[in-house]
Amino acid sequence: MNATTLSRFAPSPTGRLHCGHVCSALNARQLALETGGQFLLRIEDIDFTRCRTEYTEGIFEDLAWLGFQWPVPVRCQSQHLAEYRQTAETLLQRGLLYPCFCTRQEIQREIAAAGGAPHGSEGPLYPGTCRRLSKDEQQFRVNRGDSFALRLDLAAAMATVCRPMEWLDLNRGPQQAAPELLGDVVLVRRDIGCSYHLCVVHDDALQAVTHISRGEDLFEATHLHRLLQELLQLPIPVYQHHSLLRDADGKRLAKRDRAETVQALRQQGLTPADVMHRAGF
Ligand code: GLU
Repeated sequence: MNATTLSRFAPSPTGRLHCGHVCSALNARQLALETGGQFLLRIEDIDFTRCRTEYTEGIFEDLAWLGFQWPVPVRCQSQHLAEYRQTAETLLQRGLLYPCFCTRQEIQREIAAAGGAPHGSEGPLYPGTCRRLSKDEQQFRVNRGDSFALRLDLAAAMATVCRPMEWLDLNRGPQQAAPELLGDVVLVRRDIGCSYHLCVVHDDALQAVTHISRGEDLFEATHLHRLLQELLQLPIPVYQHHSLLRDADGKRLAKRDRAETVQALRQQGLTPADVMHRAGF
């Protein structure tokens, strides 16, 4: 690591922060501080169906209370949708995305009829139904006004890159990207016009992030992100996937567990040091 380390914490404002987030934020800050680098905060608020301004404000409030500092203005993804559309467009032009008209139920029916499908961290992998549509049929359905998502044509994408695609996980060591873990993922959602995967890769490169610390629930996603970096010719950050914090019953902490939010712990009289301790520091 060197002095140009740039790490980031990139929460989605879909609820108040809990100790799992604090763990990610502290890890990211530590990666930067260890090397005299910088820690960034980014708000990943593309999903207008779930994100709320009050939660964004809650993130600022909780992090400030914990003693974090970050450069302003903070990048909020909802302000940059045109950039993400442009990135998707370049992949589309290269024939690496295809429109998918399937509803969730149709996908489930198709998987059931096929007797199952391989599973990734986001559920069963898409069985490729719409990848097999002819160009004419795609066009017909688009013209008819059928709503669609854009999925990555994984086989087409893999055919354009040199392998192995390597990346480093600070906890698990050198890795070789295996994007087949996620299959033909949706890169442009039909409801919000972009996706976490597309935006996070775009922004980490744009902001010159060198070190990414996040929960191990995103480990499989990193295999896909590495492929997207290759397709878009972006630099490859170093990753660290930390284990997830669990409650007393062994369930991973979620934003819906109100009692475990930083706000609730603070109201119960815990100090910032207590909360950081709970987050494993
Ligand atoms: N916005 C994502 C989340 O809150 C985190 C993304 C990341 O760290 O790459 O789950």
